[in-house]
Amino acid sequence: MTSFQVIFKQRRAKVLKKTNFGCLKGVYTINVTNGCSLSCTYCYARGYSQAPPKGEVELYTNLPSLLQQELANPRRRENPDLVVFNTASDCFQPHPAILDVTYHSMKVLLEEGVTISFLTKGEIPPRFLQLFGRWPERVLAQIGLVSLSQRYWQQFEPGAAPPGVRLKNIRSLFDIGITPEVRMDPIIPFLTDGEGEVERFIRTIKELGVKRLSLSYLHLRPGIARQLEEELPPPYRDIIHSCFQNQAWAQVGTSTKTKLIPRPLRERGYRRIKDIAQAYGIEAVICSCKNPDLKGGICVPERIIKRHSFKEPKKRDRQLTLFPC
Ligand code: SF4
Repeated sequence: MTSFQVIFKQRRAKVLKKTNFGCLKGVYTINVTNGCSLSCTYCYARGYSQAPPKGEVELYTNLPSLLQQELANPRRRENPDLVVFNTASDCFQPHPAILDVTYHSMKVLLEEGVTISFLTKGEIPPRFLQLFGRWPERVLAQIGLVSLSQRYWQQFEPGAAPPGVRLKNIRSLFDIGITPEVRMDPIIPFLTDGEGEVERFIRTIKELGVKRLSLSYLHLRPGIARQLEEELPPPYRDIIHSCFQNQAWAQVGTSTKTKLIPRPLRERGYRRIKDIAQAYGIEAVICSCKNPDLKGGICVPERIIKRHSFKEPKKRDRQLTLFPC
């Protein structure tokens, strides 16, 4: 586990705001913290201008009471029917104060009849499962998991829960009547996309009951490239260099400097993963936001798509600032 310090803050601005880009355009989103203690090496939210330095996380302690006030405000035109948690951080960062604020924020929303959605690489504590078990039909869960490899976890996601714990999250969610989806992002060529490893991964999540998987390969931004350079040992850095060395920085959606893995490599990899998933009866969807040059789909939970009648985002709306996980 990585060590970090929590800075307690009071939030002044309105909490319930709609996002205006990407797959989540028009959807209310909330981040309980600014910064994320999980410190994944590939996380682009760590490079945001407002992000605190590595090892620090700012926690908005008054979030539950602000939410309560906003939902009760008679002048509010509309209350959300869906709130997506933590688009630039993780809900289940292992710190008691963060978990407390997250728990009470989710409780306020669920008690008011709002559906919540989250994506996590952390461990979901039992009290959350008890809370979710009261309204399983209004909890949309995605588990971020790319590989079952311990080495991948230790090198790329050292602050996240080990793969076994994330599998346990999936099992626990099914036990209380929630059908979680899995997000395989970022897939690293030659490291996590080999046939044998993918087969083992998909067989394991199939045995747990998973039906839908979203896929995305690693992309680079200058900040991510720096982090990978500083935090990965040489063999991993070399693999990543070799994938991106002939790729130019390009505009992808609203992000002006992005490098994608070469298209033929991604196409082959997605095909391989999709074929294996199909053989196990799992639907695998390529994330459109992170693959604007390929025919993809929408990587948010299927029920969000149905609820909001989403269409694939327009090219100009596709961007890489949502769901860093
Ligand atoms: S990728 Fe997600 S879990 Fe990892 S540090 Fe970024 S926000 Fe946190």
